[in-house]
Amino acid sequence: MKRRRRGTPLRRIGIGLAVLVATLSLVVAVRTFLGEDRPHGPAAIEVRIDRDRASEVLSEYVRWDSSGAIGRDPRPPHLDLLVERYAEPLGLEHRVLDGTILLLSWPAGEVHDHPLLLLSHSDVVPVADDERESWTHPPFDGVVADGYVWGRGTIDDKGATIAQLEAIAALQAAGLRPHRDVLLLISPDEERGGRQGVARALERHGDQIGEPWAVLDEGSFAASDFIPNRTLVPVAVGEKRYVTISLTVVGEAGHSSMPRDNAAPRVLSIALGRLGELEHPVHMLEPTDVFLDRLADHAPALSRMALKNRWLFGPMVRSMLADRPASNAMIRDTHSLTILSAGISDNVVPARARATVNLRLLPGSRLDEVLERIRGAIDDPRVTVEVVQDEGASPIAPIEGEVWTRLEAALASAYPGEDQVIAPIITPGTTDARYFARRGIPSYRYLPFELDANERGRVHGVDERVSIQNLEEAARVYAHLLRYW
Ligand SMILES: [Zn+2]
Repeated sequence: MKRRRRGTPLRRIGIGLAVLVATLSLVVAVRTFLGEDRPHGPAAIEVRIDRDRASEVLSEYVRWDSSGAIGRDPRPPHLDLLVERYAEPLGLEHRVLDGTILLLSWPAGEVHDHPLLLLSHSDVVPVADDERESWTHPPFDGVVADGYVWGRGTIDDKGATIAQLEAIAALQAAGLRPHRDVLLLISPDEERGGRQGVARALERHGDQIGEPWAVLDEGSFAASDFIPNRTLVPVAVGEKRYVTISLTVVGEAGHSSMPRDNAAPRVLSIALGRLGELEHPVHMLEPTDVFLDRLADHAPALSRMALKNRWLFGPMVRSMLADRPASNAMIRDTHSLTILSAGISDNVVPARARATVNLRLLPGSRLDEVLERIRGAIDDPRVTVEVVQDEGASPIAPIEGEVWTRLEAALASAYPGEDQVIAPIITPGTTDARYFARRGIPSYRYLPFELDANERGRVHGVDERVSIQNLEEAARVYAHLLRYW
């Protein structure tokens, strides 16, 4: 009997592989060209923003140097400014909590039970004396020139407060009500950690604030330079945990002419070298996954294929993200050496050397595990690792369910074209919103100024400024959020 010829085992494996490759290619191709559905929103609303008033009041607000505000002013001047120029003419209820926190309320919502709370802060970071002369216009003069309001705080965060108030004014002028009652909380110490502002307001004045339905704070900007021909609208749904540790080595002081292996600065330097090599593992959180999905639709062909098929190209995508500091910070815990101190004389080996390292942990990362990893990398019992500051973890806000879908819809109606890509992110920065997030209130961070790298670089830097165009645009976006969220 003649045996039927079947392929040799090798041939069968070959056919199997070919079928597998063809199937994979088909899946990759289909996934590459499947588009994400852009969120839909109600019709955009027509509002007229009073650009002149916005720039005029912001200019005056900037002239108050609030870089050391708490404890210095018996009655901070912005309280009167904002109340006289906005709260009173717009009929907003206003309360001053603990002498420094301004709480404004517009109880005109269609829904009354839980208000929407917009958060901003009145303090600013200082301007160093040797930096002042680098400014085109003095940082606290509030100069309006070339289409911009110039000065410290114009973006971070006084401009946000003004845009929010202009949004209320514009809705009122258009005869429109907000979807929910609106609260504006203007805190006095965001740049110094928020303990005397938002934290205290929640502890002592919880009855005045109630239980907000959602909170919107600063924490990310629209970016015109991230996706070619598109504007990225990144809504931060969570933030990293801010922790500072110290690395200390204590040894014996000695003469620098007779170096010893166990000299404190030497031991610390070697430890820091090892720490510099340490890379924390990648954690792709759900918002980051959604962010990449949304980004993929607008990426060039090859990146699009990789981003749409992370099940296959995961390692490649991770290394793409790891290449840039901003995206690297989205996918892993990080540590940065910030302060080094040792020694008082060039011919004395000091007994003590200390380094300060700032950590930023992704939501869900455990501090004890990160510390263990750091101690493991240093691998030297002579180096004492201690936590000196821990701002604590805060949970991620929902990216599904009513609060999120209404937020996306409101943004989609503010940005009705195809030009904006709305996506959730985790911000590496720290915001006051974390105090609300910890109380279980959905907290989002987005300030609708559209900035490129140059403009973003001025925040906390030289020549901070906001364009009047941006003030108007932010007010328009806030108006949509108040109306529809
Ligand atoms: Zn700020």
